[in-house]
Amino acid sequence: MKTQEYIELEERYGAHNYHPLDVVLTRGEGVWVYDVDGRRYLDCLSAYSAVNQGHVHPKILAAMQEQAKKITLTSRAFRNDQLALFYKELSDLTSYEMSLLMNSGAEAVETALKLARKWAYQVKGVPRYEAEIITCAGNFHGRTITTISFSTEPLYRDDFGPFTPGFITVPYGDAAAVEKAITPNTAAVFLEPIQGEGGVIVPPTGYLSRVAELCKKNNVLLIADEIQTGLGRTGKLFACQHENVHPDVTVVGKALSGGFYPVSAVLADRALLGLFTPGEHGSTFGGNPLAAAIARAALKVIVEERLVERTVEVGNYFIEQLSEIPSPHVKEVRGKGLLIGVELKHESGGARRFCEALQDKGILAKETHEHVIRFAPPLVIDKETIDWALAHIREVLNME
Ligand SMILES: *Cc1c(COP(=O)(O)O)cnc(C)c1O
Repeated sequence: MKTQEYIELEERYGAHNYHPLDVVLTRGEGVWVYDVDGRRYLDCLSAYSAVNQGHVHPKILAAMQEQAKKITLTSRAFRNDQLALFYKELSDLTSYEMSLLMNSGAEAVETALKLARKWAYQVKGVPRYEAEIITCAGNFHGRTITTISFSTEPLYRDDFGPFTPGFITVPYGDAAAVEKAITPNTAAVFLEPIQGEGGVIVPPTGYLSRVAELCKKNNVLLIADEIQTGLGRTGKLFACQHENVHPDVTVVGKALSGGFYPVSAVLADRALLGLFTPGEHGSTFGGNPLAAAIARAALKVIVEERLVERTVEVGNYFIEQLSEIPSPHVKEVRGKGLLIGVELKHESGGARRFCEALQDKGILAKETHEHVIRFAPPLVIDKETIDWALAHIREVLNME
């Protein structure tokens, strides 16, 4: 079958909740993906940072195959021999004492919010059902009813109310606004260290450390959503580390499995995660042995291949080179590590047509909001490949 036939089938039988580029992928290897017509592309999206380790990483694949032959799902009604080891390795790597495993990112976010509420009632002494959680405008934390309840994007929420109460929105990047919003009932401040889906919005230097300070001073939890920014993407294991901030709770997902399987986790110390008691929360697939074996291998690849360190080097180079491109369309280049946004001027007609032009040249990037092209290739990319991409990006950013 050819590209057009797949597209027609998909459009006919599948819900149209995405607007993908017209490319039908069938194979991936490292930073490259291949379509059904045999064309090769550089993946500059990395499945929203889920394939930081590169497509079909051989070591993660081997771990998956090995485990799949043994046992895949036990449910948490019984223990399994992969979960314990994964907990331990995740703790060693992140220096959080404990973790709780879920599947999708949105589920881990919901878990962290439940934890914050429970802490507010059991530890902080907030009157029951009066806990407030402060969130930021422009956020993206998933697609569940609760996570869209505090979205500020009309497309994500307008037709889906009524909404979950208990959330307060403040402008992103404004620590004074957080300070003003804190009340005796505030359980947590919940934010992304860089807003990925929001258009690669990097907050002002000092913002995260100031918010962390405010949280400490007011007995409020700081919860960081590092589902997209974590695990090396920005040139640190966690983006909060750019400001030496260690949030009370960090939520990870996406690259936790290197793209093989949905695995997410809530990371925190015992004083917090120890609050959950048996039966209060769970997931049939959460912490299953296949997920744990895959995630163990995925973390090992990040460490053994020094992906965090490599990202600093190639990321700085990529940002620098993009910034130097003379173009009538570019308004701003921003980002950290290999999470890069190129914002186009509004009169340039939107980022979509530039993404389509890049596709013609063998580069897959996706517009983020209307005017931003996100460049977030797998962290295993090398300088040579970046140079190859830059040559094409220069051309596209100078088209009519
Ligand atoms: C992708 C993402 C999520 C949601 O993860 P899913 O696995 O799609 O549910 C939440 N927060 C951030 C910051 C994300 O980038």
